[in-house]
Amino acid sequence: MMFSDTLRDEMKRKTVLMNYLHHTFRKHLVADDFFTVYQPIIDVDTGMLSHMESLVRWRGKEGMRASTAEIIPLLEESGLIRELGYFVFERVTADFRQIIDELGDSVPDLKITINVSLIQLLDSSFLRQITDIVTRYGLHPQQIIIEITETALMQQPEKMIRILNSMSERGFLFAIDDFGTGYSSLSYLKHLPAAYLKIDQSFVKDISFDERSQVIARSVIVLGKALGLKIIAEGVEDQETAHMVSRLGSDYLQGYFCSRPLPFAETLSLIRGRFRF
Ligand code: C2E
Ligand code: CA
Ligand code: CA
Ligand code: CA
Repeated sequence: MMFSDTLRDEMKRKTVLMNYLHHTFRKHLVADDFFTVYQPIIDVDTGMLSHMESLVRWRGKEGMRASTAEIIPLLEESGLIRELGYFVFERVTADFRQIIDELGDSVPDLKITINVSLIQLLDSSFLRQITDIVTRYGLHPQQIIIEITETALMQQPEKMIRILNSMSERGFLFAIDDFGTGYSSLSYLKHLPAAYLKIDQSFVKDISFDERSQVIARSVIVLGKALGLKIIAEGVEDQETAHMVSRLGSDYLQGYFCSRPLPFAETLSLIRGRFRF
């Protein structure tokens, strides 16, 4: 009884959300209903801001709120993620252009990362469209890192190698996201043109007190480094965790310990005021 009530409520919520989303896209209200936030990624060696991860946010409708983690799967299921993806790509590129214009000299190697779903990568015009956007804003593909989850890569491994290689030839960089949750093999990783490996938060979370998490994180770091990848530890929430992942050899830190994801205006003032964490 309880169970079926909950299930019915969930399905109702999903239907309502889906209706809102379809309405947004049909009426061309994407720019009104979605915005992007940015989370700093810190270089362990220098303590300086080196990258920012862009994350999309839904503004909500008529009192209804939903997290990005709830919204993204609905957009993927409906295919709307393709259109949202281009909106995000353009928004992030425009924001990044403004950062470079205002602060370029003080943050010369700053890079931005953009999350991309499998459906977006499988869109045959994806590479052309994102190349257009990047060119239009006078940026270089090398300034942009595309984050793809290990799980997405493993859906169609051979095809992904081809797609990523052609994008890599244009200069785009890749990060394998949520690494450790997707069961990819060493030989497969070797064939991917990725530059970064992001250790999933679930392994980072308990690292300061849980020995098993330490063992897993250490092997992921050793493996990644052996493949020539830079390691980003996500979900770093406190000093002890920051210390531990750094000691294990992570190149970069990301998480609430450094900063929460910030709206663009706050991102700008953060970069202006304080580069060292
Ligand atoms: P993700 O790519 O793994 O992003 C990291 C998530 O962890 C973000 O959640 C971020 O807000 C959260 N986070 C950051 N630091 C900490 C921390 O210290 N502790 C904890 N507990 N969480 C932390 P968010 O923004 O809700 O995004 C959820 C997922 O949605 C992302 O996971 C990503 O897979 C997807 N996503 C977000 N933006 C986009 C987008 O523009 N396009 C696509 N295709 N997917 C996106
Ligand atoms: Ca990500
Ligand atoms: Ca992640
Ligand atoms: Ca994730």
